[in-house]
Amino acid sequence: DGSGNGSAVTAEMVDDVARKHFPPCMRNLYERLKRDHHLKHFGRLQLGLFLKGIGLPLDEAIVFWRRMYGSTMSDDKFNKEYKYNIRHSYGQEGKRANYPPKSCQQILTQNQPGTQDSHGCPFRHFSPDNLITFLSNSYPQLERSSPEMKEIMDSVKSTHYHVACTRVFELTHGVKKGEGLGEGESVGHPNKWTDRSRELER
Ligand code: SF4
Repeated sequence: DGSGNGSAVTAEMVDDVARKHFPPCMRNLYERLKRDHHLKHFGRLQLGLFLKGIGLPLDEAIVFWRRMYGSTMSDDKFNKEYKYNIRHSYGQEGKRANYPPKSCQQILTQNQPGTQDSHGCPFRHFSPDNLITFLSNSYPQLERSSPEMKEIMDSVKSTHYHVACTRVFELTHGVKKGEGLGEGESVGHPNKWTDRSRELER
């Protein structure tokens, strides 16, 4: 269910975990946040709930987001406008609902991103050119004009996004084709990608 079964993650560790264990959608959000010191609402929500799911506790989440916004945002603005939302997504404000991290199905179908947005699924929401560039830049194992990249892009073309994502997982983790996240399970939740990736490292 993506509620997270990995060991705890601190704000300090996020960068390392991102490079080794983030699926493409979260890798994209994280890189954009690092570059722009900013993410729009649905991007913050998608990444924030995911980070909760990988085991980033609330106090560390506040440290993480404060650092990422950096000097582009005053402490006052952060405390007034952003801290509440972070606490809210951890169920500490408002209705105190414990919002679960979003599944691939939700990311693929809800809140379609506009051109200024970074949320969504790269397989579904990037142009083919941007997707190839993004994948080859983010994952050194995936070369631009390799047969593997062609295979991934063929799955995308036939709208089998989870197949494409699963293949990326296999190729970046030295996992046999068809093995997926284990016993042939395909990627259905970004948190499962990360949990499995951290498991394989142990
Ligand atoms: Fe993320 Fe799921 Fe898309 Fe993979 S298929 S990039 S895990 S939303």
